[in-house]
Amino acid sequence: MEFDVVIIGAGASGVMCGSVIKDKRVAIIDSGAKIAKKIMVTGNGRCNLTNANVTSEFYNTNIDRFLKRFDEKKTLEFFKKLGLVTYSDEEGRVYPISNSAKSVVDVLNFGLKENVSSFLNEKVSKVERIGGEFIVQTEKNTIRAKVLVVATGGNSSQILNQLGVKHREFAPSLVSFKSDGTRDLNGVRLSNVLVKARNNFGEEKSERGEVLFRENGLSGIVIFNLSTIFARRGDFFGEVEIDVLPDIPLEKLTKMLAKRKELSIRLDKFFVGMFQNAVANEIFKQSKMNTNVLSTKLTEQDLLKLAKTIKGLRFKIIGHLENNQVFSGGVPLEELDENLMSKEIPNLYFIGEIVDVDGVCGGYNLQWAWTSGHIVGECL
Ligand SMILES: Cc1cc2nc3c(=O)[nH]c(=O)nc-3n(C[C@H](O)[C@H](O)[C@H](O)COP(=O)(O)OP(=O)(O)OC[C@H]3O[C@@H](n4cnc5c(N)ncnc54)[C@H](O)[C@@H]3O)c2cc1C
Repeated sequence: MEFDVVIIGAGASGVMCGSVIKDKRVAIIDSGAKIAKKIMVTGNGRCNLTNANVTSEFYNTNIDRFLKRFDEKKTLEFFKKLGLVTYSDEEGRVYPISNSAKSVVDVLNFGLKENVSSFLNEKVSKVERIGGEFIVQTEKNTIRAKVLVVATGGNSSQILNQLGVKHREFAPSLVSFKSDGTRDLNGVRLSNVLVKARNNFGEEKSERGEVLFRENGLSGIVIFNLSTIFARRGDFFGEVEIDVLPDIPLEKLTKMLAKRKELSIRLDKFFVGMFQNAVANEIFKQSKMNTNVLSTKLTEQDLLKLAKTIKGLRFKIIGHLENNQVFSGGVPLEELDENLMSKEIPNLYFIGEIVDVDGVCGGYNLQWAWTSGHIVGECL
């Protein structure tokens, strides 16, 4: 079968691209049974499709030149024209007003016109370029076109290797940390804490918000965002430090604890009314203090040590858990021209997560999918 353009991957970026291409015969191929199936799970089923404030600072690399051509405002206009009604929350995260990701998928389906033929349930097993033409092999069909757009998402090394395209190794990002020091805190949720992560390359990143403890690690949006400094190095070893009371300076906290000392209670009850039991136990454990004594025995040094631990609970990071939201890595922007076409292989384009662009939580990754998909669709 012959087409003008073949898009491999009917995810966010591929569908955006396909819906923008006019007056060309387009084939869009996906191994899934439906288009944009991953969108259904985004934003906990609500689809945080973009953010009211998108700039390069939320990504691993500068994408200003692409955002200038198709930013969050243009994205919202695009979706509005298709009938999608949206709202944004206090952090600028944009969702469909239905709070259902299906609304986004439905309008994307409207956007695909008759010039686009979908080949679903067809996994691409081989891609070749012979005589200036791309030959895309699925289990059922051989599809040929002069132009190929690869929109297969993260972890797409196989296709990149087949095409001989240079890329950075893919590594899970926006992912929970694995730790062997969190077992006793399993199920605890700490809100409004300040978390600092440090990787083994001396890089640090801090975020404020909520942390969820699991038996084997730490999770939550703050942790996902901090995981980017590990993913971008492809190395998940380091440490997190949690300031449990970031609004109370160390000195003030030490004085507060000195007053509590006068309660004359056993240390295992010292933090009752202040921290959950599991957190209190962890503070004593990390302070290396015996709780089998009365608070009146606490010295000034002990109080300072406890205050320091509260302002810096430490956990070793020894890897990541499953279920990452995106992959870091892929085709570097330096390998692509201003229209995201390969500088080495003419008429070969890359869009979405397969490009080495990854953002933090908040709608930034889908925004890159819309931006890159639209730019390529428009230039074809
Ligand atoms: C649980 C979860 C929640 C998320 N929530 C958000 C959110 O709220 N906001 C946000 O901005 N981002 C979110 N993301 C990230 C976002 O989903 C991705 O950044 C985005 O989907 C990337 O779009 P894409 O088009 O590059 O790839 P994808 O959407 O992954 O699409 C790639 C498509 O290619 C197809 N494909 C791959 N290989 C082949 C092959 N060999 N043959 C045929 N087809 C193939 C796949 O089936 C898939 O449909 C979330 C991700 C996850 C996993």
